[in-house]
Amino acid sequence: MSELEFILFDLDNTLYPRDSGLFDHVDHLINRYLEEVIRIPLAEVDLRRRAYLDAHGTTLNGLIAHHNVDPYHYLDYVHDVPLADYLAPDEKLTTLIAELPGDKYIFSNASSGHCQRVLDYLGLSDLFVDVYDINYFNFRPKPELAIYQELLDDIGGTAVNGMMIDDMAVNLEPAAGLGMTTILYGPSLKTPPSLLPKGRSIASLHQLPQLITELMMAP
Ligand SMILES: [Mg+2]
Repeated sequence: MSELEFILFDLDNTLYPRDSGLFDHVDHLINRYLEEVIRIPLAEVDLRRRAYLDAHGTTLNGLIAHHNVDPYHYLDYVHDVPLADYLAPDEKLTTLIAELPGDKYIFSNASSGHCQRVLDYLGLSDLFVDVYDINYFNFRPKPELAIYQELLDDIGGTAVNGMMIDDMAVNLEPAAGLGMTTILYGPSLKTPPSLLPKGRSIASLHQLPQLITELMMAP
């Protein structure tokens, strides 16, 4: 990588750590939506979510296909989380991201509202040129290859001059396949980072500046 044109940041469990508990709250609200709104018996909720995830990529897309769910209603419901209980603005992180080279974008499977609220709360809103969320892609999620290409087309970016950071290895695979440098943040739930083409991993976003410097200097 000789030039860093752009960096794509995942939002949930990437701009804030998984152990903040925020995403566990969202997870709990997804279960509650299936139980209380769709009326799936509690004992079947986990199984149903797994089935929707496997067949449709997200719980939401399974709910749309099988229960004709209004995606806006669902997204408002599951993202209704008191951010102050889980997040704290991090001035060091703000400065760190601001000083990274290239244009910065959010690339998230969450709703526009949730992305904006989290960015505002963390004081990061002004640092990103644009937010590519699940609403933008008409509810098609990562890791659907087509949306990575659509994002690249929209920003006019060249994949080999780009970088993507996500806490889920499965979301990085299409980006790596297109030629981007990929950074796995935190503990991976699925594929070990060594299996990723051109993949690197970091345990803290504060390691990013040094890693980028190393990558830019590598032959
Ligand atoms: Mg994430």
